[in-house]
Amino acid sequence: MDVRSNPPAEAGGRELSGITPSGSLTLGNYLGALRRFAARQDDGFFFVADLHALTTEHDPARLRRLTLSTAALFLASGLDPDRATVFVQSGVPAHVELGYLLESTAHVGELGRMIQFKEKGGRPGTRASLFTYPCLMAADILLYDTATVPVGTDQSQHVELCRDLAIRFNATYGATFTVPRLAPAAVAARVRDLADPARKMNKSAPDDAPGVIRLLDPPDLIRRKLRRAVTDSDGEMRYDPATKPGLANLADIVAALTGRSPQEVIAAHGRYGELKDTCVDAVVGALDPVRRRHDELMGDPAGLARLLEHGAGRARSVADPVLRRARDAMGLVGAPYRADGGCGVPPMPTAAGRTTVDEDGERRTLQPPHQGNRS
Ligand code: AMP
Repeated sequence: MDVRSNPPAEAGGRELSGITPSGSLTLGNYLGALRRFAARQDDGFFFVADLHALTTEHDPARLRRLTLSTAALFLASGLDPDRATVFVQSGVPAHVELGYLLESTAHVGELGRMIQFKEKGGRPGTRASLFTYPCLMAADILLYDTATVPVGTDQSQHVELCRDLAIRFNATYGATFTVPRLAPAAVAARVRDLADPARKMNKSAPDDAPGVIRLLDPPDLIRRKLRRAVTDSDGEMRYDPATKPGLANLADIVAALTGRSPQEVIAAHGRYGELKDTCVDAVVGALDPVRRRHDELMGDPAGLARLLEHGAGRARSVADPVLRRARDAMGLVGAPYRADGGCGVPPMPTAAGRTTVDEDGERRTLQPPHQGNRS
């Protein structure tokens, strides 16, 4: 799952990004996501999407560890809790609740067409949440009144669904959600697997995958993985991602970390081994402070919990009013959960549709007003 909304600054929208803690974060996550988060963090919302990690079999202890570690890596990579809202998704119950309301808006036909469900689901033992999680993802987006969602190829179907659900909900129950616009995502550099450059470096690869650099790998391990990176046998220093993907990947990594172009990086080296050495220095130099800061944060669990609760509180203050609008529009009258401990009983907006008892003791149900176009 990758929820992202990083609208162009001129659109005035807020950055919203979530990463599922389904594996230990990689150099790809750092260059493709975390480093950009820090650069665009003001008023942004950044969450660890732990609920999305429940759609396939999971180990609770591992999930707990990865969730906290991912949050610590967000902070260690430069997100400042005073400038950005950093939180764990399950700390904001509105995500689950709006997810259910949207499941009650979505149709099984459209969820069944989701490519990721068709690829990974459909077996008797498949978790039901793998079928319904696009509704949770739609809730992730709609709760923050997100105006623009940039769409890469792998998530476009989910974002289209989010839009369809928002439009259908608004048409059925009255204007409730900001309907997000789709925008083409900026093309970000893809870091490739060092052992198989045809594939992207993926956090969900096995923990000991030799071609995946984890942000928490110690310098020695990073050095070993980079020294063993697959290249090619012609020995020619040339930037050509199509025919020399391993070499191009190393040059891309150095380029991303040093601000030079990959062609310049290649031209500055006479042999593959020299480029690998430069790559080791650049990666270790960038990740060492991140790992140290992560370890400090993880060494103070109460302090980390306080920072995340601070973020969750800010997220709830934005998400809860949106959820309340949706609950009211759908006719739910139960007291909404309130983190401040208040009873949260909403005022009765109108008597319509509710059962009342007349002065003479007769029970009477008032009819609801017209509530928008039902489709
Ligand atoms: P994922 O790990 O696929 O859930 O993706 C989380 C975020 O990290 C998304 O913004 C991805 O675009 C980014 N990301 C993941 N892997 C890579 C990679 N190998 N290269 C560049 N960006 C990546």
